[in-house]
Amino acid sequence: MLSVSGAVNQRYGRIAVIMFGAAAYGLFCLGLVRYGYLQATTPAFSLLIGIWLAGLFVLLLADGSRPGRFAASSLTMTKAVWCNVGVVITALLVPHPVRLLILVAPLFGILYTALHLDRRQMLFVSLVTWLTYLAGNGLLIRYGYTDLAFEALIASAFTVMLASMVYMAGEVTALRSAFERRRLRLNGAMEQLAELAMRDELTGLYNRRHIMEVLKGQKALADRGHVGFTLCYCDLDHFKQVNDRFGHPCGDQVLHDFADLAARVVRSVDFVARIGGEEFLLVLVGADAETASNVAERLGEQTRQMCVVPGEEDFRLTVSIGIATFKVGERVEDVIQRADQALYRAKSEGRDEIIIGA
Ligand code: GH3
Ligand code: MG
Ligand code: MG
Repeated sequence: MLSVSGAVNQRYGRIAVIMFGAAAYGLFCLGLVRYGYLQATTPAFSLLIGIWLAGLFVLLLADGSRPGRFAASSLTMTKAVWCNVGVVITALLVPHPVRLLILVAPLFGILYTALHLDRRQMLFVSLVTWLTYLAGNGLLIRYGYTDLAFEALIASAFTVMLASMVYMAGEVTALRSAFERRRLRLNGAMEQLAELAMRDELTGLYNRRHIMEVLKGQKALADRGHVGFTLCYCDLDHFKQVNDRFGHPCGDQVLHDFADLAARVVRSVDFVARIGGEEFLLVLVGADAETASNVAERLGEQTRQMCVVPGEEDFRLTVSIGIATFKVGERVEDVIQRADQALYRAKSEGRDEIIIGA
């Protein structure tokens, strides 16, 4: 993201480029006058000066269609059209061979356009450039300023060169959009990877690594006097028996179902993670031990009611839960350890218990 000072520098940079371009164009016009290609008193000279001033106006003011003027792309279609039309008219106002030389500039303008605008806009700029050239040339021929046969030859050559440039510019825009598509795909893949890296594969809950990051963030908030949190450390009771009796795939399904249960009993601001085989951690944001114990009660109750294996209604799953509330200043590892110690007590007191730690 662009910083404020970066944006300001960029803005002044753009204005400087425009002023430099305008000054260069002004000097060029004066050069034309100085070397006799233009009479300073003719309408053509006034037209040139008009183009010069209108250009400044368009570049400095009329490009305000978006809120951050000069803050977004350096080239807009307005600017591109104006520059090319201005240069073509300039070319038509001066005699050959200087005209031929100037006519090269809009060709490069189209290539430059391809680097900043999309294909449709580039084609539009090219079409306007070509039509301006044809219309201007038509007027010159109509009023007898130039020879039809000679200009027709030049116009054909200009058209062929313009067409080649449009073709090349088309390739550039195609490359740019292919690159953009790949960039978007890559971004999507990276987001997916980041999401996968924080999830437990079996249950879709957060994994240990991610919940540790979450806890660091929550600790930072709590230490600064913001919202605190309480942990519920859950361990399924005698889970080994599920595997032994019904097989490992069934055990996996039970872990998955319990994960869904746990995710449902918490609020959307809370976090649930699977931090080991059949061990889960609930991070209840802004909750005290009493609120956490209510959540744990609900989870324990719903776990007991869970149908572990269809047809084996007598088999009931239970969960032991240790609770610990974060104390300002302590380490994340410490609060987890206190929850773990409470869980240990819940196990030793017969399981299917909820113990609030010291
Ligand atoms: P306790 O009440 O003391 O917690 O007993 P327990 O059997 O739940 O605990 P123990 O640590 O003895 O066994 C945990 C079991 O969890 C053993 C292991 O096979 C099983 N387990 C761990 N991860 C997975 C898993 O991803 N899938 C399945 N199906 N089982 C798992
Ligand atoms: Mg265990
Ligand atoms: Mg267990």
